[in-house]
Amino acid sequence: MDSKSFNPFEMAQEQFDKVADLLDLDQATRDLLRNPIREYHFSIPARMDDGSVKIFKGFRVQHNDARGPGKGGIRFHPQETADTVRALAMWMTWKCAAVDIPLGGSKGGVVCDPHSLSMREQEQICRGWIRQIARDIGPITDVPAPDVMTSAQHMLWMLDEFETIRGGKYPGLITGKPVGMGGSLGRKEATGYGVIFTVREALKELGIRPDGTTASVQGFGNVAQHAIELYQQIGGTVMSVSCWDQDDQTTYAFKKKDGINLDELRKIADRFGGIDKGKAKDLGYEVLPGDLWLEQDVDILIPSALENQINLENVNKISKRVKIIAEGANGPTGPRADEVIQERGIFMIPDFVANAGGVTCSYFEQVQSNMNYYWERDQVLGKLDVKMTSAFIAVSDLAKKRKLYMRDAAYVIAVSRVAQICRDRGWV
Ligand code: GLU
Repeated sequence: MDSKSFNPFEMAQEQFDKVADLLDLDQATRDLLRNPIREYHFSIPARMDDGSVKIFKGFRVQHNDARGPGKGGIRFHPQETADTVRALAMWMTWKCAAVDIPLGGSKGGVVCDPHSLSMREQEQICRGWIRQIARDIGPITDVPAPDVMTSAQHMLWMLDEFETIRGGKYPGLITGKPVGMGGSLGRKEATGYGVIFTVREALKELGIRPDGTTASVQGFGNVAQHAIELYQQIGGTVMSVSCWDQDDQTTYAFKKKDGINLDELRKIADRFGGIDKGKAKDLGYEVLPGDLWLEQDVDILIPSALENQINLENVNKISKRVKIIAEGANGPTGPRADEVIQERGIFMIPDFVANAGGVTCSYFEQVQSNMNYYWERDQVLGKLDVKMTSAFIAVSDLAKKRKLYMRDAAYVIAVSRVAQICRDRGWV
């Protein structure tokens, strides 16, 4: 299951089964939490710029809403499948529980490639997605947000369509909205910064000062760019980043001897985080095959792209120097590779803790939208730091106390919170 036949939902279920055994969960709770409570699959007709109509496949999966309204992003990706969305919805349930915010887990997706769609065509898809699901989402039932290849602009089109259908203003429908239109300051930075709050805590635990450490980052999208920004502010050096190249349909890693320069790379990247390799060469970067991001001789690896990037085929190429892996992406490490990482004693900060900053800030956005009173950026990021740090400490304390791998400790905390509320509600 680790490479060719990889199925993210099977991986999410395998991770869940392991913790269900650890917690000795009863059969009904296992059956309830192993699968989504509800899911919707639909067709979205969209008129293309050339006048033709194309039908796109869309999904919304609601895994569990015992702790509160479902919450989770919408991905636009050509390889999106029902099983990817199911896995991501389940991970959202654990993520919201791990940071202890009163929300459940959902996820949405559309099979499409925004690289080859104009903004007008993407607007049609956003509005069409809402038209198909408007009855089944809402501020007190299920609240979408951005994810891979979707942005604040997509959220605003979706909100506008929902408000047109319902006839009223519903800023709590969706998060990740533009600032000034119901969005929260700090939301754009939140996921990447949150990753680094947890890296900072992990370094503290290992007795390592952040300045002087090095990292290699996979991905150059919103999460990766903001993780790099804060990591550099705390004194770290990013030796290489990798990203998808749309022209060559492959990935490249970009490396510079004394570390990459975030500002200069941002200037030569497209809106999906694809770096122009010609311009990067001119700026003195070495352009390498993308897989090499994992083999760098650095202290910290930050996979911030997609699922199953560290698997049995490449896990043994991780340098002996690596001490921490912080999962900025959802599900970047396959289960067999995870076992190898655990055996090697690398400090793993699992996805649903490391990248929980995005949804935590989405929760702050909901609170601000409900009050119609917006906080300063420092206030938002200060609250985010408190939430992320306490979630990290709870997980690492449990890991130490019960001698558990960090991922297992995070699962124990998250799944027991969700199972408890399902029992308290009388569902199981
Ligand atoms: N898409 C982000 C995630 O995977 C954020 C979800 C949200 O803000 O609801 O955590």
